[in-house]
Amino acid sequence: MKTFDIVIIGGGHAGIEAAYIASQFQLDIAIITMPGIGLGSAPCNPSVGGVGKGQVVRELDALGGLMGILADKAGIQFRTLNESKGFAVQSSRVQIDKELYSIAAEEIITAIPNITVIREKMVAAHKHADDFIIETTERSYRTRKLVMTVGTFLNGKLHTGSEQKVGGRVGCEQSSGLLELFRDIKTQPHRFKTGTPPRLHKNSINYEVLEEQPSDPTVRNFHALNDPFKRNSPQVSCYLAHTNEFTMQVIRDNKEKSPMFNGQIKAVGARYCPSIEDKAFRYPDKHVHHVFIEPEGLDLDTVYPSGISSSLPKEVQEEYVRSIHGLEKAEILVYGYAVEYDVVDTTELKLTLEHTLIENLYFAGQVNGTSGYEEAAGQGFIAGVNAALAILGLDPLILSRHESYIGVMIEDLTSNTRDEPYRLFTARSENRLYIREDNTIQRMGAYRAHLLLNTPLDSYQRAFLAEFSLISEFCEEMMVSEGHPLMLEFAGIGDKEQLNRRMSVSEIIRQGWLNPVTTLQRIMDYHHVSINYDLLKTVAISKKYEGYIKRSEGQYDKLKKMDGMKLKWEDLCSSRNISFECKQRISKIKPETFGQLKLIEGIRPATLAVVAARAL
Ligand SMILES: Cc1cc2nc3c(=O)[nH]c(=O)nc-3n(C[C@H](O)[C@H](O)[C@H](O)COP(=O)(O)OP(=O)(O)OC[C@H]3O[C@@H](n4cnc5c(N)ncnc54)[C@H](O)[C@@H]3O)c2cc1C
Repeated sequence: MKTFDIVIIGGGHAGIEAAYIASQFQLDIAIITMPGIGLGSAPCNPSVGGVGKGQVVRELDALGGLMGILADKAGIQFRTLNESKGFAVQSSRVQIDKELYSIAAEEIITAIPNITVIREKMVAAHKHADDFIIETTERSYRTRKLVMTVGTFLNGKLHTGSEQKVGGRVGCEQSSGLLELFRDIKTQPHRFKTGTPPRLHKNSINYEVLEEQPSDPTVRNFHALNDPFKRNSPQVSCYLAHTNEFTMQVIRDNKEKSPMFNGQIKAVGARYCPSIEDKAFRYPDKHVHHVFIEPEGLDLDTVYPSGISSSLPKEVQEEYVRSIHGLEKAEILVYGYAVEYDVVDTTELKLTLEHTLIENLYFAGQVNGTSGYEEAAGQGFIAGVNAALAILGLDPLILSRHESYIGVMIEDLTSNTRDEPYRLFTARSENRLYIREDNTIQRMGAYRAHLLLNTPLDSYQRAFLAEFSLISEFCEEMMVSEGHPLMLEFAGIGDKEQLNRRMSVSEIIRQGWLNPVTTLQRIMDYHHVSINYDLLKTVAISKKYEGYIKRSEGQYDKLKKMDGMKLKWEDLCSSRNISFECKQRISKIKPETFGQLKLIEGIRPATLAVVAARAL
C-alpha cells in the first residue's frame, strides 16, 4: 500500500493550496481527487479577489501560497473595487480565464516532484493506529495526516426547477455523505446551498447598449515576485447590465416554481450572496439590480452574468434573462442551478483546522460551510501548513484576527456554529484599517519567517521590511518648516492654516485633504530619493492610519471588558450604522446586554464597535 505523509482529498482551491504549501517542507504529499475535474477548477464566478478577498489573496501570496500566482497567470481583466472609498477597504479583483487558471494549476502542481496527483474517488477512510487508511474506488492508501477539501460534493444534490439530480456540481458525480466516509463526525444541523447563474453565449449579447468596464493597467499583480503591471494574457472588458421591473415580475410570478421558495430546497443559502429569486422577494419594491457580464475565458464561448444566480425552471430563466436590456437575444448554454451539500460542524475544529476529536484529520474549504475560492484557499493553506508543521514537530501557524482576514475567518469558523454559508467581507474585522492590501508583507512577514523556508520570496520580504523601516524613520524624523516650498505647494491644495508650522513628513501625510501616497511621492521626488512604489504606498498609508489603528485597538480591548453593559435592542435596529443582516439577527434574539449581543451568531465586529463607541 502506497504511504504518504499528507493526503489531501480534493483538488479544488483549498486542496491545491494545502498541497502547494505542504510540499515546500519536502514531505511526501498526495492529492486524491475525482477524475474528470481539473485542479483548481472554477464552477462559479470566474474571478479571484474582491472586497476582503483581494486581501486574502495577497496574504496567501506573502505566506508562500499559490492563488496569487495562478490569478496573475490567468488574469484577463484587473480592477480595484471600492476605489472611491478609503484605502482600507479597497481590494483588487481579477477576472480569470477559468481554463487558463486550471491549466496553470495543473502545470504547477504536477511539476512538483513530491506531490502525487491521484485521480480516483475516495469512498471511505478509517483510522489505523495513528494513521489513516483511505479507500478509493480503485485501491487503498495510507497517510499520517488527512486533509479533507471536498467542497460541495458531500451528498450533493442539484436543483433546476423541479429537476433534481445527485452531484457535486453540474456534470459531476457526488461524494458519499460525511457520515459514510467517517464515523463520529458531527455535521451542521442544516445542509447548505449555493447557486450559480445560467451561462450565456458570448456572441448572443448586444454589448453596444451595456456599460463597458475595461481592465485597469494600474492594478498591481498579486504575486510579489512578478513584474507588478505586466499582464500574462490579453486583457478584455466586462460589461454592466441591469434588471428591470419586467425581469423581477417574471420571477415573482413564478414563485411556486422556485425550489427555494416552494419547499423543494431545505438547505440554507447565504443572505449576502442572494440569488435573483432572493432579491425579488426580499426587496419587493426594488427592480433594478446590477448584472455584470463577465467573460469566462478568452477561447470559451460562455459568459457569466453575475448577480442573477437561480434555480428556477429553464423556461423561466430564459424569460427573465431575455427581459434584460442587451440580453434580449441571449442564448443560454448552461442553465443555472443550486446545489445542496453537507457541511462539517466547524466548532469541532482547532485553529489549525485539525479536528478536535479525530487527531491528524483536517478540514478546509467549502466543506467547512464557507463560500468562495479565496476563503477555500485561505483555509487550505492553514490546514496544509499545519499538517506539515505537525509532522516536523514545529509550532503551529495561527494567524491572529488582528492581523489578517484569514485569521478572522478561521476564528469565526471555529468559535461559532454557522446558520448560513460564511463569506469574508471587510466588516467581519474589527481592525480593517490595519488589514489592508498594501501592508500585507508587514502583517504576514513574521508568519512567513516562522516557516523557516529560505526562498527568493523570503529574501524579497526581508529587504522590503528593512527598507520600510528606513523610510518610516525618515518620515518621523524629517522636519519641514512653514514657508518651505513643499509646504507652500501642499497649502495651495487645501487648508493653509494647518500647514502654518514646522512639522514632520508623517504629520504632513496625515493632513485630511492630502492624498498620502502622492504627497509622499512628491516629498521623495523633491529630495531626489527614488523609491519602489509599493514601499512608498505602504509607508504613506500606514502613516495616514497610524492614529486610527491605535484607537481601534484600544476600543477592541475595552470591548472585552464591556460584557455586562445594558442595551436597548430596538435602538440598534434603528441605527444607520448597523447592517440589515445584523439588525435581522438582533431583532430575532433581542439581546439585553452587550455580552448577549456578542454571542449572537453572525454579529459583525464592526457592529460591536459601533455599539461600543456609543457607550464610550
Ligand atoms: C453551483 C455552485 C455555485 C457557487 N457559487 C459561488 C459564488 O457565487 N461565489 C463564490 O465565490 N463561490 C461560489 N461557489 C463556490 C466555489 O466554487 C467554492 O467556494 C470553491 O470552489 C470551494 O473550493 P473547495 O476547494 O472547498 O472545493 P471545490 O473547488 O468544490 O473542490 C472540491 C474538490 O473535491 C473533489 N472531491 C469531492 N469529493 C471527492 C471524493 N469523494 N473523492 C475525491 N475527490 C473528491 C472534487 O473533485 C473537487 O476537485 C459555487 C460553487 C458551486 C458548485
